Amino acid sequence: MFDVIISGSGPSGSIAGETAARAGLKVLIFERHKLVPRWEKPCGGSVPKHVWDEFNIPPNNVAERKILGNMMIAPNNKSFVIKSEPNFGWNVKRSIFDKFLADRAIDSGAEIIEESFVKDLIIENDFVKGVVVKTPDGIREFRSNITIAADGVGSKIVPKSGIRNKWEREQLGFCAVVFVKGYIGLDGENSINLFYLSNEIAPNAYAWVFPFSEDLANVGLGLFKTKGNPMEYLHKFLKWPRIKKQFKEQDIIWKSNFPIPIQGISKKLFTNGFMGVGDAVGFVSPIIGEGISYGMTSGKLAAETAIQAIEKGDYSISILKNYKKKLRKENLFTIFSAHKVFRDLLMDDLNNTVNALINLANSNPDVQKLIKLALTEEGVDDIPPELITRILNLIKSILKKD
Ligand SMILES: Cc1cc2nc3c(=O)[nH]c(=O)nc-3n(C[C@H](O)[C@H](O)[C@H](O)COP(=O)(O)OP(=O)(O)OC[C@H]3O[C@@H](n4cnc5c(N)ncnc54)[C@H](O)[C@@H]3O)c2cc1C
Repeated sequence: MFDVIISGSGPSGSIAGETAARAGLKVLIFERHKLVPRWEKPCGGSVPKHVWDEFNIPPNNVAERKILGNMMIAPNNKSFVIKSEPNFGWNVKRSIFDKFLADRAIDSGAEIIEESFVKDLIIENDFVKGVVVKTPDGIREFRSNITIAADGVGSKIVPKSGIRNKWEREQLGFCAVVFVKGYIGLDGENSINLFYLSNEIAPNAYAWVFPFSEDLANVGLGLFKTKGNPMEYLHKFLKWPRIKKQFKEQDIIWKSNFPIPIQGISKKLFTNGFMGVGDAVGFVSPIIGEGISYGMTSGKLAAETAIQAIEKGDYSISILKNYKKKLRKENLFTIFSAHKVFRDLLMDDLNNTVNALINLANSNPDVQKLIKLALTEEGVDDIPPELITRILNLIKSILKKD
């Protein structure tokens, strides 16, 4: 019998496990993959500075490259750069980042069982009481007072808990990622993350080039509400002359496809004895697809709620509703609704809107704030929804005149 069982040892699950174990709870985490070598989760791997500070992660041992800022590049090739002081963050290989966090959860007292797939929930009298797991030794049941789903976009147990249905296709983005050797950077600059927004490159979404260590780059793109093979789009993007010239040669050493939930945070996040965190319940920015930071924050807050529940001996929704209160305090719902409003406007007419936006960004501080919010999540307090609407109306009126 465990206090807390967690399905998944990605960033959300490991932080939840570490937080609960540090408080003395008996924690068991299941991970479907082997822990060593660690699975390379397909990801851009861009992690903003506040995450490293807040979760006390030493970049020296874990990160690939220090990143100074972000550049948004419009279909007409005009660009806008936001540099952050002292730096924006660090890019990571997920195999290294995730291993660091999982090891820290273990060091804090959590147990992780690898190669074990959580396939179902034990539900009794309307309470989740544990999980059913496919282990190397066969199907087994494990019981706990609280179960946390941190098993990403493909979570089997979140739909079984009844807090949300299976994702519909139109709620997901479909991504392709490659690691390419031979990167020299854009005009020799290789400490800036590049975002290419254009319907020709990545319909309704964007492509990225994120520098890694030495001459490696993480290049990827997503497709949203578009049929087609993202890896084919990505290969076309790599052949594009503006991208090709950023490489001495293009030696692809790793590639993968993966979906991402970008419809925003699920309405329901918990039920009796159960909470969802991270991608499993949609903690991914609807505009930029960033989810590591939100997943880790949700993992920490769910674990803190579990600690309160265990102290009180009450695992019902009347205690677990504190999870949502904590998320609200961290402004997460406000950030996500701002991102969604912005995303919907962009998608309406991506190429023209982005051209107009970047044009305006070079002279209009409000537009700069909006782009900063989307790319760096900085400044959410300065961006009330009215301001977003005002800027968007400005852009629409410019587009009409054109
Ligand atoms: C292509 C792409 C690019 C991205 N780029 C960025 C980026 O640059 N920056 C950023 O912040 N975010 C990015 N994201 C989003 C980010 O990857 C996720 O938001 C983040 O990984 C969420 O962490 P998580 O722990 O919730 O889920 P995951 O990282 O998906 O971890 C889930 C864990 O659970 C395990 N698991 C899954 N199912 C089961 C099961 N049934 N039983 C047991 N274990 C299970 C998995 O093996 C995995 O270890 C990107 C996503 C994609 C797809």
